[in-house]
Amino acid sequence: MPSPLPLIDSFNRVHDNLRISVTDRCNIRCFYCMPDEPIQFTEREEILTFEEIEHFVRVAASLGVNKLRITGGEPLVRRDLPELIEKLVSIPGIKDVALTTNAVLLKQHAQALYDAGLRRLNIHLDTLDRERFKQITRRDELPRVLAGIDEAVRVGFEKIKLNVVAVKNLIEPDIVPMAVYCRERGFEPRFIEFMPLDSQSLWDRRKVLLADEIREMLTSAIGPMVAVPDSDPRAPATDFAYSDGGGRVGFIASVSKPFCLNCNRIRLTSDGKLRYCLFAIEETDVKGLLRSGAPDSEIADTLRRNIAGKWIGHEINSSKFIPPPRPMYAIGG
Ligand code: SAM
Ligand code: SF4
Repeated sequence: MPSPLPLIDSFNRVHDNLRISVTDRCNIRCFYCMPDEPIQFTEREEILTFEEIEHFVRVAASLGVNKLRITGGEPLVRRDLPELIEKLVSIPGIKDVALTTNAVLLKQHAQALYDAGLRRLNIHLDTLDRERFKQITRRDELPRVLAGIDEAVRVGFEKIKLNVVAVKNLIEPDIVPMAVYCRERGFEPRFIEFMPLDSQSLWDRRKVLLADEIREMLTSAIGPMVAVPDSDPRAPATDFAYSDGGGRVGFIASVSKPFCLNCNRIRLTSDGKLRYCLFAIEETDVKGLLRSGAPDSEIADTLRRNIAGKWIGHEINSSKFIPPPRPMYAIGG
């Protein structure tokens, strides 16, 4: 039997949050994540099955993991995703399951996801301008994204968060319209500083629109905001609330204010590798264990060892920084 001790690293950080990538494929091509040219995706037989993911989550839950996020690539291109959600929400110890999606296919799947027990959605949308959407994603899918968001509201999803990737000299005209769109609908926008996870080495610190700059833009265009004492200090976003009661705004300042010291996250890639950090260089295989019928105690020990070896944090701001060997779409954001 796996030991019930929680997953603690050598910096005393307890890990209870697992991000699961279910595919490295995607139906759009955001330039800060995917390349423009044809991509060699992982072969289907190398991707973990739903049963393998469920098995791994049962072991992780026995070690204190209680929060899951399904991501990718684009998770909704994975067939029958609601079946996986249904399996995961019923695992003892799992208190929260969320999904991050670009919403292109959400209109078709929102009801089934909700019926499977999903309640939390993070939707990735940078702009309401069709031309800029095409420029960023290299696809003309804004109408389907907006229809997907409307459908999610219709089926009853509450507390929808919208991820906006903050790229300097590009996204400035979208900041206020996105914030207003969210305010009017009761969504929380989360502005995420552009990180060095693209597949074409486009990242440069000067291309990051910083969280403080965005906050200033919102304050002068919409009104003052106050910091919200965080309910979960380990969450990556710093939340602010409009002083007029018009809702919240989150800032994920991974570049300007790294939050590694509070990190509680573990990642499982779609091909069954464990990563203790988005920026990790090394990874640990668990697919081999799951496929060879290894006992749960061995899977648990592997997870413990991966966390025990976790570094103190990424070094984006140092000259020593080495970008991870996998781009964002192949890790799972
Ligand atoms: N396809 C889904 C989506 O776009 O939401 C899920 C996977 S995507 C890799 C997860 C999140 O990563 C996106 O919502 C986007 O906000 C974020 N992202 C992608 N590339 C990024 C980058 N280079 N820097 C910062 N955030 C990025
Ligand atoms: Fe696809 Fe999400 Fe990457 Fe955009 S950020 S290319 S939607 S996986």
